[in-house]
Amino acid sequence: MESFPISPLAGTLFGGIFGLMVGSFFNVVIYRMPRGESVVWPPSRCTQCGYQIKFYENVPVLSWLLLRGKCKSCRTGISIQYPLIEALTGLVAALVIGYFFYSGRVYPLDFKIGVTFLALASIPIFVIDFRHFLIPDLITYPGILVGLGLSFLPGGQTPLQSLIGAGASGLFLWLVGFAATLLLKKEAMGLGDVKLMAMAGALFGAPTALFGLIFASALGTVVGLPMMLFRKLNEHRHIPFGPYICMGVGISAFFGPQVMDWYMGLLGW
Ligand SMILES: [Zn+2]
Repeated sequence: MESFPISPLAGTLFGGIFGLMVGSFFNVVIYRMPRGESVVWPPSRCTQCGYQIKFYENVPVLSWLLLRGKCKSCRTGISIQYPLIEALTGLVAALVIGYFFYSGRVYPLDFKIGVTFLALASIPIFVIDFRHFLIPDLITYPGILVGLGLSFLPGGQTPLQSLIGAGASGLFLWLVGFAATLLLKKEAMGLGDVKLMAMAGALFGAPTALFGLIFASALGTVVGLPMMLFRKLNEHRHIPFGPYICMGVGISAFFGPQVMDWYMGLLGW
């Protein structure tokens, strides 16, 4: 980000603080979304006594530490998940943004923002998909819009590429799911995965998103199958695929061209 009038260290720290705040919002999403509650209203409350948490008592990580993990009003324990999600989101943001500052490699601005968005969004997707087997529209719909919006920035992909990326990537996975449903005679894939692919396509274009799907399938097989067997086939009898899509697309975005070159070299092309 050489065009930014800000030092790499300051930029990385700002990124981390920004991530902490995003993590605070993710806590709300992770708690309320599967319950079908609004994430904007009402403001944060103690889930036990309903005590309304003041904004200055809602400082990421710090508040939980100062209150020693207890509600100020009723002293009920507050899950350590809250500060952990905040710290993790802050760390991921600092790492990704720090990488762009320090790596010395030149990426288009829409790519840098897109990767940061994907990395952060994958945190609530991990938690919610593993627990509830669904991917929140609250993340994928805005993600598609972010991708389309970013494509208007100079450099990187064009709005048309982004639009085709969203459509083609979503449609492709939908067709795979449709075919699998016919073959297995049961619902094989959630629409959440389709929307997540559309988001990936909007952010990075169809080639990166679809190539990412190959990595996602490989990861899902290598990591997901043993896990499923270990859990003796959970009652849903399927693997939450969203986290693998996030990882696969991330790998594809960074390493897709290298892997492609290596593979072509292997084939002697
Ligand atoms: Zn309370």
